[in-house]
Amino acid sequence: MSGIFGAFSKNGKPVLEEVYLGLYALQHRGQECAGIAWSENERIATAKGMGLLHNAIKQEYLTQKNVDCAIGHVRYTSLPGSQLHNVLPIGANYARGAVAIAHDGMITNLEELTLQLEKQGAIFQSSTDSEAIIHLMAHKSHMLPLDALIDSLRKIKGSYAVIVLLSGMLIAARDPWGFKPLVIGRKDENYYAASESCALDIVGAKLIRDVEPGEIVVIDDKGVRSLKIQHESCRGMRCTFEYVYTARPDSIIDGVSVYEARKEMGRLLAEQAPCPGAEITAGMPDSGTIAAVGYAERSNIPLEMGVVRNRYVGRTFIQPTQKVRNLGVKIKLNPISEVFNNKKAVVVDDSIVRGTTAEQVVSMIKDSGASEVHLRIASPPVIHPCRYGIDTRKEETLAAVRMTLSELCKKVGADSLEYLSEKNLTAAIGLAEDQICTACFSGKYLEENELKAGA
Ligand code: SF4
Repeated sequence: MSGIFGAFSKNGKPVLEEVYLGLYALQHRGQECAGIAWSENERIATAKGMGLLHNAIKQEYLTQKNVDCAIGHVRYTSLPGSQLHNVLPIGANYARGAVAIAHDGMITNLEELTLQLEKQGAIFQSSTDSEAIIHLMAHKSHMLPLDALIDSLRKIKGSYAVIVLLSGMLIAARDPWGFKPLVIGRKDENYYAASESCALDIVGAKLIRDVEPGEIVVIDDKGVRSLKIQHESCRGMRCTFEYVYTARPDSIIDGVSVYEARKEMGRLLAEQAPCPGAEITAGMPDSGTIAAVGYAERSNIPLEMGVVRNRYVGRTFIQPTQKVRNLGVKIKLNPISEVFNNKKAVVVDDSIVRGTTAEQVVSMIKDSGASEVHLRIASPPVIHPCRYGIDTRKEETLAAVRMTLSELCKKVGADSLEYLSEKNLTAAIGLAEDQICTACFSGKYLEENELKAGA
């Protein structure tokens, strides 16, 4: 999972600081490293580093540069490889000029492509998906750069949203199924591409629209053009986990407010899994809070902000090791005993992936005096690995795979445990069933023939 942001100024205004701010708004999508790339004297220049954006890149350095087109990236990796050489954007000066690429997603035929390219003489400097795109372009140096990029995107499979800096153009492209979110925004003569619309808000830009699945949006001096990577695929695979957990609630993805979707998940959860006799509703901050608002509203069980989150600690799910995850929950969340003391509480969380957070949270809430803790999860059980770029790829690590519902309830120490159904999740998001991906809940992956249909 990553966050990407690009900016282009038609009237030559400096944009580097805006790219920095855009990435700042997308920090929740990746905290391991950050990078920004721009073109300087017809070569790619970068500022990169490890850790949170403000540690990785010096903001003052960017304000000294007069650059009118730039792209940036914040990264969380589901694969090993947290090293500086893997920090995106990756840039190169190939035969046809300077190119820099940042992507969110996972190319599923990367191994096959890498082998092929290496046989043809390519030497890889990183283990990133973006570098494969650059090598594919370099092998098409007889083509115009934009054509070479389109040709390369046609060869890759899997999930991706990419932002490219190429020959004075800002290019944004989304895979044919739309797994990863990508939006276009505008402020006066400045255009932007971003993983989420919340990053447009920070630079004062208005959301124009989503990049459509399979679309390439080209922004340059002449304006905005739309091209197609592949022919239209009628099947969409927009990631539902974006609405459940990943995206910020102040973002709008594919026309759906993440906030409204989460609140509706809570309302439908209250109808589907009521908790008679509960005295308070509490949400797990931050991504369970909004579903808890919906649950409390529909069930008429008063909402209390019973669990306080230390805002200076990263999301536990995003930390790379189990040891850090375990520590993360304890240092991140603290229940208020005055709220829970002697109360029967219904506690709403967004999801259970490995079960680490749920177990510790229930135990902390019980320690703070709650007489009963009933856990309600605003998404279905995660029982399948994601093949499209989220870190849940080992089935045996998933709590709902390792245990039955009653075993898991016992393990986390809750008095009852219930999940939102897949049908209600789909209804809460409001997009058509054949336009969303629910594979990690349902196992409905893209079939081989559907993969081919998008190719
Ligand atoms: S499998 Fe789950 S996490 Fe992966 S893209 Fe589909 S909905 Fe999103």
